[in-house]
Amino acid sequence: MKNRIYIKDLSSHIDEEVTIACFVDVRRDQGKLVFFDFRDMTGKVQGVILPGSKDAHEVATPVRTEWVLEVFGKVNKRPERNVQAEKQNGDIELEILGIKILNEAVTTPFDVSSDGREIGEENRMKYRFLDLRRDRMQKNIRMRHAVIKHVRDYLSNEGFIEVETPILTKSTPEGARDFVVPSRVAQGKFYALPQSPQQYKQLLMVAGVEKYFQVARCMRDEDTRGDRQPEFTQLDMELSFAEENDVMALNEALLIEIVQKLYPEKKIQEIPFPRISYKDSMEKYGTDRPDIRTDKTDPNLLAFCWVVDFPFFEKTDEGNWTFTHNPFSAPKPEFIENILEKNDIGNILATQYDIALNGFEIGGGSIRNHKPEALKKVLEILGHSEENINENFGHMLSAFSYGAPPHGGIAWGLDRLLMLLQGEDSIREVIAFPKTGEGRDLMMDAPSVIEDKQLRELGINFKVQK
Ligand code: ASP
Repeated sequence: MKNRIYIKDLSSHIDEEVTIACFVDVRRDQGKLVFFDFRDMTGKVQGVILPGSKDAHEVATPVRTEWVLEVFGKVNKRPERNVQAEKQNGDIELEILGIKILNEAVTTPFDVSSDGREIGEENRMKYRFLDLRRDRMQKNIRMRHAVIKHVRDYLSNEGFIEVETPILTKSTPEGARDFVVPSRVAQGKFYALPQSPQQYKQLLMVAGVEKYFQVARCMRDEDTRGDRQPEFTQLDMELSFAEENDVMALNEALLIEIVQKLYPEKKIQEIPFPRISYKDSMEKYGTDRPDIRTDKTDPNLLAFCWVVDFPFFEKTDEGNWTFTHNPFSAPKPEFIENILEKNDIGNILATQYDIALNGFEIGGGSIRNHKPEALKKVLEILGHSEENINENFGHMLSAFSYGAPPHGGIAWGLDRLLMLLQGEDSIREVIAFPKTGEGRDLMMDAPSVIEDKQLRELGINFKVQK
């Protein structure tokens, strides 16, 4: 829009005539004076139609909240007694000289000027495009952008590159159920959506990338909770020639910088972040994501800690061995012989490091098993047959036989971190278009049935089993 001035910049245009483009936030009629609060992405300003402005009065008569306008007016300094110092633009006012209605709005199903906590979540989800208009949600999505941008800049400066990895892929053994996508071309076969880019990022290390990161979407078909969504975002990274301390130090420094630069009102309880062994954490806190805050009433206190020395394997209910975190992890160096000899399996510790914040796991990673023979042994311990290993992990073993650098990495649950930084109690509040607790998108109405034609093309003929 030509000559548009953003609301945040109005105070540098005092006594000038300007044009803004905005939503109507509030309308207040006070007899001869009509007041509005106008809102654009940069903030709010009060507008007033003075009794003399007949034309403006006429156009403004039908205008209601959430209408979309172009407003032409003069920026006036407010008289001293009307100044609201604590408010953005509290010392100015836009004297409305003309209004162009860009679009009308029917009455919204709920108030978008409150913080929204009083509104049923189903309703908020169904009209998410309106729900996102509220200040709290605008802050959440804009701070999310700021954090992600900070991460991208920081890691780029450290020599990392962001590489996208496929969404249509093959099942990865992250321990959760896969979402699957039927193939039309290869009928009867399925892609799996990635639970994480784990294998691809390791293959990028074999490819010589050395420092990889990605703001990566991950899909896990698990029951949704306040801090879980069927699709969520990881800050995923992997580094070659790195040891545990390298990955931990880099991530710690990045987290500290995010808090100090973007959340200066928050206080980190302890730097460097304390490190707690899995065993101590379980004994002392009864969990592997301990809440070590010394004052749990303080919303600005961030108590980060690392949890290390996790057991590599645990027994399933059926009595078989399964991995606790990641089948691609390396054991701690002193346990490599145990892996190769499959000896004292229950006591083998992994190079796994998790990071917890105020009682939530916000990330985890490990140094990987880059030697094909050791990885093969782990897969054998996990009960995979020779045939199964070749079929599912053959590409990894093959890749590692061509000179794989030692490597390790980590992934953050970005939604959870943002939830905590923004002081929210659900990750749904920091995701623009989240799913409900039942994994539904109420606005788009997904999941939904698809047309018979689509099913025929996919060669799918099914009966829903009750
Ligand atoms: N891929 C792992 C996860 O999603 C994280 C990692 O080990 O880098 O939990």
